[in-house]
Amino acid sequence: MRALICAAFVAALTSCAITTPHFAQTTAATSTDISNPHHTQSANDGWGAHEGPVTGGAKAGDAHVYRVRTRSELVRALSAGAVAGSKGPSSAPKVIFIDGTIDLSVDAQNRPLSERDYQDPAFDWSAYAKQFDVETWGKKPVEGPLEAARKRSADTQASVVVIPVGSNTSLIGVGGSALIKNGSLMVKNVENVLIRNISFEDAYDYFPQWDPKDNANGEWNSEYDNVTVYGSRRVWIDHCTFSDGARPDKINRTSLGRPMQFHDGLVDIVRGADLITVSYNHFKNHDKGSLIGNSDSRSDDAGKLRVTLHHNWFDNVKERSPRVRYGRVHAYNNLYTATAGADYGYGYSIGVGLKSQLIVENNVFDIDASQARVFKLWRGDRISATGNLLNGVPVDAVVMLQTQTSSPVASDVDWVPPYQPIVHAADRITAAIKAQAGAGRLR
Ligand code: CA
Ligand code: CA
Repeated sequence: MRALICAAFVAALTSCAITTPHFAQTTAATSTDISNPHHTQSANDGWGAHEGPVTGGAKAGDAHVYRVRTRSELVRALSAGAVAGSKGPSSAPKVIFIDGTIDLSVDAQNRPLSERDYQDPAFDWSAYAKQFDVETWGKKPVEGPLEAARKRSADTQASVVVIPVGSNTSLIGVGGSALIKNGSLMVKNVENVLIRNISFEDAYDYFPQWDPKDNANGEWNSEYDNVTVYGSRRVWIDHCTFSDGARPDKINRTSLGRPMQFHDGLVDIVRGADLITVSYNHFKNHDKGSLIGNSDSRSDDAGKLRVTLHHNWFDNVKERSPRVRYGRVHAYNNLYTATAGADYGYGYSIGVGLKSQLIVENNVFDIDASQARVFKLWRGDRISATGNLLNGVPVDAVVMLQTQTSSPVASDVDWVPPYQPIVHAADRITAAIKAQAGAGRLR
């Protein structure tokens, strides 16, 4: 295993308030000034930089640097420079500074749109719950005119709130309080995207679908992640904050005997996405944090889903921080906290799914829960985990996983990171991550 490079707290290199120690940034080769449109990821910064740092729109000329304040302005900037007649967002290099709050669920005049604006005339929640009552409908998949009307309603919402992001794009929050809410960024089948210093809240699905077969008694499943990385390569998500915002799950109503769920993931990385770095983000107050690989059956994901997660704070996230299938995922120096009595209960942190190959090193788990099962087995069979602390005590992931299966769990993986990270000792990271992770820390 690579040598641990010792923790060395240094005085702030960034322009944040200097109240707590800060980590040195990886290299000083590129500008870290958030308002510089030409800044890029640093070399050597995890899987995202494997083929060279993510540059996003850094090559854009001045005419393709935008400052946007509304959904319409954002969509216009994302489309600018598109090849005539092409579908989807532009792949021309562009830097889009996000200024203030952008509500994605609005009309062309920036007036808020809500459930009734999207709902199909043939859809009705009480009729839906009546039709799909397990006593009469049973466990078969939902279908028929009412389900079709739900789907039309959902499609109408999606056409407004899901915003496709093209290749060679930088999305950067400015002013310390950039916020994108009530929708989802879809980074689909593109390359070279950086997203920094933005808060994302409440990717709310007004029309969740009933799945009678999910878990023992059926579940409501919703569609939108705050950010979805779908089949894309070379993406850097850094210093952002992700949460459910104004609509936490505790206010959700119950239907068909189950609490309804209106949110999906915070950052999901799926469908052959590859070479992704997720760093210095604050994930908080949410159920399903980050799915890496979304189906056991998707064997095409093998060899892809290479993701590095470092210096993130998973703060009262119930589960999936991340849950991995197939991917070669490196999670180092992340902080996990769960507070007893928080709005979101604690399930688990790291999900070891089918054919996953996680390297998990020097993370801190401060979990105030009756069962601090931080590693959960989901058909995986190997993990390399070293230097992790659970409530101040070294935790052995393999021992914990082995209690969950009678099959052997191996304590190694078949790869080593092809980059040289600065990995700090776990007992040194908590205060610095709390001070540095999330949006609004970079100016
Ligand atoms: Ca889902
Ligand atoms: Ca998702």
